[in-house]
Amino acid sequence: MSKPIFEKIALVGIGLIGSSLARIICREVLTGHIAVASRTAETLQRAKELKLGDDYTTDAREAARGADLIIVSVPVGACGAVAEEIQPALKNGAILTDVGSAKASVIAQMQPHVPDGVHFIPGHPLAGTEKSGPDAGFAELFENRWCIFTPLPGTDPAALEKLSEFWRRCGSKIDTMDPQHHDMTLAIVSHLPHIIAYNIVGTADDLESVTKSEVIKYSASGFRDFTRLAASDPTMWRDVCLHNKDAILEMLARFSEDLASLQRAIRWGDGEKLFDLFTRTRAVRCSVIESGQDVDLANFGRQAVGHPQVVQEQQYQVASVPIAAAATPYVS
Ligand code: NAP
Repeated sequence: MSKPIFEKIALVGIGLIGSSLARIICREVLTGHIAVASRTAETLQRAKELKLGDDYTTDAREAARGADLIIVSVPVGACGAVAEEIQPALKNGAILTDVGSAKASVIAQMQPHVPDGVHFIPGHPLAGTEKSGPDAGFAELFENRWCIFTPLPGTDPAALEKLSEFWRRCGSKIDTMDPQHHDMTLAIVSHLPHIIAYNIVGTADDLESVTKSEVIKYSASGFRDFTRLAASDPTMWRDVCLHNKDAILEMLARFSEDLASLQRAIRWGDGEKLFDLFTRTRAVRCSVIESGQDVDLANFGRQAVGHPQVVQEQQYQVASVPIAAAATPYVS
């Protein structure tokens, strides 16, 4: 077995991401000690029951004290306050990172509170589900998923390599880019799809000519695939929208233009245009599968239990994924 990478890791925030990290850190023995911090006593108690760490506190500063690696896994809008709180406890040489879904804003919030001698390396694992809280996590969440770092100028290469090694041992593939590029990329691959899902589900919910019971009854026609994204945590997604505002607005403008063009093609019966677009988008789906970011199963492998495709899907998934967490992972 390989050696632990860090003596003490502090997990500040123990929801879906923090608890998934706790589980993989334990399984792979990546540290000698895990300190868990959560804002509320309720979440902390649950983390304790799930045995996610070695000690537990609602005081993030206490958890961070003496840690070699501090991972902040809280909603994007809370990162600045957390950095300010833990600042006095950060030891010289420690690595401070986060997992937030928007990077420029997190950097602007956290960087002013990072003491000299502490390596602040912003990060974002592109892995998640629509579930939240410590029960939702599972050790395989990061398997074969990208973790993007947006290192600041002057970042110590040795600290970056050490953090990369940590994420590789969590199962991730590593990429680095600048924060603005990250935010623009994630706006299209993650934030816009969620916003569209929230919007379409909201529109259906507001309809008067089609009843709510009909929307639910006939949801397997396509609607239900949007409801999964639209069930994602409201706090997290409120913060993503508020903290990646410019990139999201730019992508929404592009999207609206393209939607207007599609609308026009439908109005004028431009079948060729519709066919060409739908052919192009089908090829995108093939590329997603070829890159290993989804499985090639009809209807995302969602079939009646016992159907051969489900059996195949279950063989593909790591057997130990808890039922509660066995949602299809996606990027956030
Ligand atoms: P989560 O399951 O809702 O857990 C959030 C954690 O943050 C909990 O420990 C919670 O504590 C704590 N918290 C909430 N509000 C806080 C505040 N104002 N101050 C301090 N702590 C607070 O969230 P998550 O899904 O793990 O997401 C955490 C981060 O990961 C977010 O920044 C998100 O953008 C990013 N991320 C999420 C996904 C995803 O798919 N979910 C994927 C990649 C990255 P209490 O429960 O005690 O209040």
